[in-house]
Amino acid sequence: LMTRRFNFCAGPAALPAPVLERARDELLDYHGQGLSVMEMSHRSEAFADIAAQAERDLRELLGVPDNYRVLFMQGGASSQFAMVPYNLLGAGGTPNYLYTGIWGKKAINEARHLAGAHVAASSEANGLTAVPRPSDIAVSDDAAYLHYTDNETIGGLAYDYIPEVGEVPLVCDMSSSILSGPLDVSRFGIIYAGAQKNIGPAGLTLVIVRDDLLDRALPSTPTMFNYRVMAEHGSMFNTPPTYAWYLAGLVFDWLRHDVGGLEAMDRINDRKAAKLYAAIDASGFYSNPIATANRSRMNVPFVLADDALNATFLRDAEAAGLLNLKGHRSVGGMRASLYNAVPEAAVDALVDFMQEFERRHG
Ligand code: PMP
Repeated sequence: LMTRRFNFCAGPAALPAPVLERARDELLDYHGQGLSVMEMSHRSEAFADIAAQAERDLRELLGVPDNYRVLFMQGGASSQFAMVPYNLLGAGGTPNYLYTGIWGKKAINEARHLAGAHVAASSEANGLTAVPRPSDIAVSDDAAYLHYTDNETIGGLAYDYIPEVGEVPLVCDMSSSILSGPLDVSRFGIIYAGAQKNIGPAGLTLVIVRDDLLDRALPSTPTMFNYRVMAEHGSMFNTPPTYAWYLAGLVFDWLRHDVGGLEAMDRINDRKAAKLYAAIDASGFYSNPIATANRSRMNVPFVLADDALNATFLRDAEAAGLLNLKGHRSVGGMRASLYNAVPEAAVDALVDFMQEFERRHG
């Protein structure tokens, strides 16, 4: 008998059970081809169909306008920290960044290797508990782009608005928030995301880039980093991560047809997060420091009133079938990631467990 437990991992994260079941059913013999997707040539007709369908479904889900390219890349979101400046600094200018947490900081440091970086606004003064207000954002006159992290996965800090920067291309790391709800892609120059939260397994990196930004690369840009080269080769300049691409396609299909699209996903995600934050706020034992408007729906960090109980909490949670609740090593405490594939029943089970734990130890 199969026992799938509730997985709150920040990434690689839970995948929808129907997606895994379909992958299992198609594993040994994909649609009568006599081989698995893993064993196919990326140049085969069967894989070309898988790749094209995945892109169509993603475009449909997010309403990606025709003047944007969708790239299926490798190297994780961390490689995008470097690819963004490589691809956008060919015409000069200063990279601009908003700093709201650990991932944004890594992006800033990567830009600094290539050029200076101007921090246009920062949450440092409030201890990374609230995002900058729009009026706090001071973009430099020569800005080549403005980069921000929509959802800081470790801090659990999320934007409640899209920055408005006129003609300056807006670049967003959406690794831990993409596909959690509807999105106006037309507001952005570049959106990127590592796959291993809301898209699919690790190994695939999604990039959505506006056409007019494809001819700004620095001449020294490595070929594999060059968005134009990737776009011209249909993301197959080299061997792409074919199986991860296929699984991402199954996730997009699940979102469209089982969930009913991103508006439906949005409502479910609202409900899941509201339940957990309500339980945290109602207790005198658990706490979360983030400003209400900027609390992440995807990653909910919380601490116990007594740190000495952390190990017991994690051990008992695991025994109750609740996995991966340990906070990031840099901040400690707990973190429950509530990505799309984490069902509402998982949140209910977690809240029940937390209340019971508080009764016993609070
Ligand atoms: N940005 C954000 C917001 C993330 O959450 C992560 C990973 N947790 C990264 C970047 C780095 O992603 P990767 O491991 O795919 O390089």
